[in-house]
Amino acid sequence: MEIPFLDLVTPHLQLEEELTAVFRQALHTGGFIGGRVVEEFETAFASFCLSGYAIGAASGTDALRFAILASGVKPGDVVVTVPHSFIATTEAITQAGASPEFVDIDDRTYNMDPEKLRDYLETACRRKASGRLLSKRSGRPVTAIVPVHLYGQTADMDPILAVAEQHCLTVIEDACQAHGAEYFSKKHNQWRKAGAMGRAAAFSFYPGKNLGACGEAGAVTTNDAALASRLKMLRDHGQARKYYHEIEGYNGRLDAIQAGLLHAKLRYLERWNTARRECAARYRRLLSAADCGIDAAYEPSWSKPVYHLYVVRTRERDEMIGHLRRAGIGTGVHYPIPLHLQKAYEGLHYRKGDFPVTEAACAEILSLPMFPQLTAEQQVRIVEEISKVAGRSIPSKPASEMVELG
Ligand SMILES: *Cc1c(COP(=O)(O)O)cnc(C)c1O
Repeated sequence: MEIPFLDLVTPHLQLEEELTAVFRQALHTGGFIGGRVVEEFETAFASFCLSGYAIGAASGTDALRFAILASGVKPGDVVVTVPHSFIATTEAITQAGASPEFVDIDDRTYNMDPEKLRDYLETACRRKASGRLLSKRSGRPVTAIVPVHLYGQTADMDPILAVAEQHCLTVIEDACQAHGAEYFSKKHNQWRKAGAMGRAAAFSFYPGKNLGACGEAGAVTTNDAALASRLKMLRDHGQARKYYHEIEGYNGRLDAIQAGLLHAKLRYLERWNTARRECAARYRRLLSAADCGIDAAYEPSWSKPVYHLYVVRTRERDEMIGHLRRAGIGTGVHYPIPLHLQKAYEGLHYRKGDFPVTEAACAEILSLPMFPQLTAEQQVRIVEEISKVAGRSIPSKPASEMVELG
């Protein structure tokens, strides 16, 4: 039996009636753009994120670009982010007129390393008499930071927010992979949700994300009412009132059918995230029992991840991918080439060796099947097949004998 990397059919068929009802309603009302359906989803998503406002957008990339623009990043500014992300993170920065500069990631969480951020701000930047912080490598003003909550795990936000505040920088979360992820803030002495920690946050509802549309969609969350109004204008040709354009904006709206479908699916998100966490816990037990030298995904005590992806590391990645493919098991690599080494960013003049933690990770990371409907039996088989490659030097009993199912 094949085990897919991701199953986009089963959850939609389970909700077939609810989802087709949304489409039928749109056909009967002609409400395709904006309106009540969009607003109701926005309200529900804001409340899911424990954030004041959610503003729908046409994609996660649009959402991030709008969030950066609305937060006051100006053309020519530098926005600091990580080289270990999907290219949409840096596309949004560039398309907002700014330019990305990178700091390396933490070896175990794969997210922005707060110490490297501090080091960058203190040693790779200088402060002008005017108080502005300038990047030494580009001579441009540094104004914002975009931490990415990669794989469904938040970045270590307390120290990132602290250093940002110290340098008067805006923090915009790339929460495109982290719907529902939580972070324990020592400063606030409470769990905080992805999307409610920065000045604004971008979410993607690309079909494969934890909350996915049946097409393209995204949203920005923020607690700032003025920012929310600017975001609404930016996504809709710069108008707050039809044909009265206060600024030049974009065609970047969330359409009503996608909003309706997302609202229907949002009711299941908590359940699906719980199922993903259970799958992750089972991978942990199985991998540790198999004793094949492959570590389970790292979960710091301050993190409640939602496992958008389940990522392990192996030096024998190509062999592993090939073996799993022949066994009918789908895998992925997120992502094989760091952003600073992409051809598209030749112009930024980074070199191999600039971000060693990211570069080492990119060569070894492997994403295993992860979706809410993944079964215990499938996971046992996956780990058994993994051990055949990884554990060749280590004799071990089959995983199924050592770990009870369920
Ligand atoms: C998916 C994703 C995006 C972009 O979202 P789209 O909806 O595909 O435009 C941005 N950043 C990260 C980290 C993502 O995973």
